This record gives sequence, C-alpha cells and structure tokens, in this order.
Amino acid sequence: MEIFWHDACLAHDAGEGLWELPGDWPWLDVPEPHPENAARLRTFRHALQHGPVAEHLTWRTGRFATREELERVHTPAYLDFLQQACEGPDRVTLEVNTVVGPGSWDAVCAAAGTALEALASVRAGTPIAYALVRPPGHHAQPTMADGYCLVNNAALVAETARRDGLRVAVLDWDVHHGNGTQEVFTDQPDVLTVSMHMRHGPWGTNHPQTGAPDEVGKDGRNINIELSLGAGDTAYLRALDEIAFPALHEFAPDLLVCASGFDGSAFDPNGRHNLTADGYRQIGKRVAALNLPTVITQEGGYLRGYSALCLHTLIEGLLQLPEPLLDDPLAYIPDDSQCTTTDLDKVKLTHSPYWKAFVGSRPNPS
Ligand SMILES: [Zn+2]
Repeated sequence: MEIFWHDACLAHDAGEGLWELPGDWPWLDVPEPHPENAARLRTFRHALQHGPVAEHLTWRTGRFATREELERVHTPAYLDFLQQACEGPDRVTLEVNTVVGPGSWDAVCAAAGTALEALASVRAGTPIAYALVRPPGHHAQPTMADGYCLVNNAALVAETARRDGLRVAVLDWDVHHGNGTQEVFTDQPDVLTVSMHMRHGPWGTNHPQTGAPDEVGKDGRNINIELSLGAGDTAYLRALDEIAFPALHEFAPDLLVCASGFDGSAFDPNGRHNLTADGYRQIGKRVAALNLPTVITQEGGYLRGYSALCLHTLIEGLLQLPEPLLDDPLAYIPDDSQCTTTDLDKVKLTHSPYWKAFVGSRPNPS
C-alpha cells in the first residue's frame, strides 16, 4: 500500500486553546495545544514507519495543489479570503475553533495536492493509496472553512475523478458529519456521499447541515447514517454491512474515496463514540474486500497516541493481514446493539424510495 506524505502539512499551526480561543480558558495552568496539531500527524507517520506494518508500506511524496485545482471545489472569493488570512504575522480565527496563521496556506496546498497525488497513483493502478495529510478537509464547504477544515481534500479527489468521467462514492467514517462533502455534491448525482457519524445537531451558522437521515440529496445520493452517542464497533460494522455497502453495490462506483477519521474511538476528546482499534481493523478489512480502487484522506483523530494505533490497525485491515499485528491496551466495548437497530432502521426507511436494498423497510416498533 502507498502512503502519501508532504512535510509542509506540518507547517499549519492553530496555536493553543482547548476547543475555543486561548483566552476563554484562563483557569488552565498549562494551555492545551489546539486539538488539530502537527504532533498528531507526526505521531501517525511514526506509527506507520516504526510499527510492525511498516514493511508493507511504500512512502510517496506529495505536492502542492494549484489554484485551478482548489477551485474545483471552492469559490475564488473563498480561496482569496483564506490565502489572505494565512499571510500573518498573527493568527486569524475563521470561525469558532478554526484558526490559520503563517504556514497554513502551504499546508492547505500540500494536503490537497498530496491527496491528488494519491488519486493519480490509484488511477495508474495502485489499489489503495492513503493521503496522510492535514489540515483535515471534510467540513470545508465551497464558500467557507468549518471545524478545523480549510480545503476539502476528499471532495477535491472525488470531483477531480468525476471530471475525468468516473462514478465516485465517498465513504466518511470520521465521527463528525461530512457536511462539507455533502454540500459540494448536493446537486451531483454522479457522486454518492455516505457519512457515518454521531448525532450532534446544528453547530451554528457555518454548519447548517445536521447530518440527519432526511438530508437525502439528489435522488438519494447522500446517505447520512446518524448513530447515537455511545455507538461502537457493532454499530459501525452494521452500518457498513446493512447500509453503506448495499448502496455502494447498487451505485457501482469506479472509485471509492474514504474520509478517514479516528475521532470515533472510545478515547477521543472530540467524539462521543466507542470504536476500538480492532473496530478500525474490521472497517479496513471490509473496505479492502470491496476491491474498489480506493483513495483515503486523513480527517480527524485527536487523542494522538490512540489515533495512531487506530491508523495502524486500519491499515492492517486494509492490507487484509491474517493476524493482528498490534494489541489494543485500552479496548473496552460497551454494548451498543440497542441504539444501533433504531438508528439504522431510520436510515433504511428514509432511503427506501431510492435504493432497492431498502425497499420494504419498516419503521422500528419502538
Ligand atoms: Zn471529526
């Protein structure tokens, strides 16, 4: 498997703070770094280079995206605004907790261009390419930054492939709704977007999409699998097996783009779901078994050590290795089967007019 990397992704520095601006937490003696920081990506890289999976990986260097490429999914006015905000010398807050500064523009262009290099490799015959990049992208909308995301890397990969005539499906397992990706393709029936995420409601003016099942998009081509707080391995694997994969099978994409976050883990400060490292391993196995050309972009995952373990186990699964290479020292899985059935039945019922797989779905008696 190929891993795509660019050093400039480390240049984006959102400073300190918890989930809000630094001054809002004066009672902290030692300020927290912004959750989306360079140390997490360095840790991810280190895990893949020094963990037992290392021998299976080939590292490739990415590149900077061009302005023309970025304009495939963002408006010129937004890109002008973003680039200017990154000029420094001070950091600029674009929305509640999305901060840019000197170095951020290089990181944005490196993340986007490196994701496009991963696409180019897959178009040339590599089965799976992983763009290990930051800042993340799946919240970024055509005209605005959102939730640490500045340019939507997954959407850019999908849109680039679509313009080349491919049918593209995007599968997003970050714990947060892939609202930016949904927005980019809302009127685009040639791209199927599927997001599995925790129920969290509206986040404010920058995030009008709630991620609810009834946001079906054009012809049902947007599937939101909203999972109750506490959902874990069982919920995610059932969501894949019962909803995402049947829809993918009917849609029959030429290319799969995965937005890969690890903030669905049981220990993530930004998520309220309970995936374990083995859960990510099972997700990886299932995605690999689809046998689709696949580009993966790095999204969230904020407890960096455990996220790095989850990245490692996901890759083990994607490689379809027969035995686990790493143990999970923290695994604990509460029973999530009860909430799952109700959640999934709601999505199936909502999408039953659009997909044969869900015809005849009935509302849950509870
Ligand atoms: Zn997230």
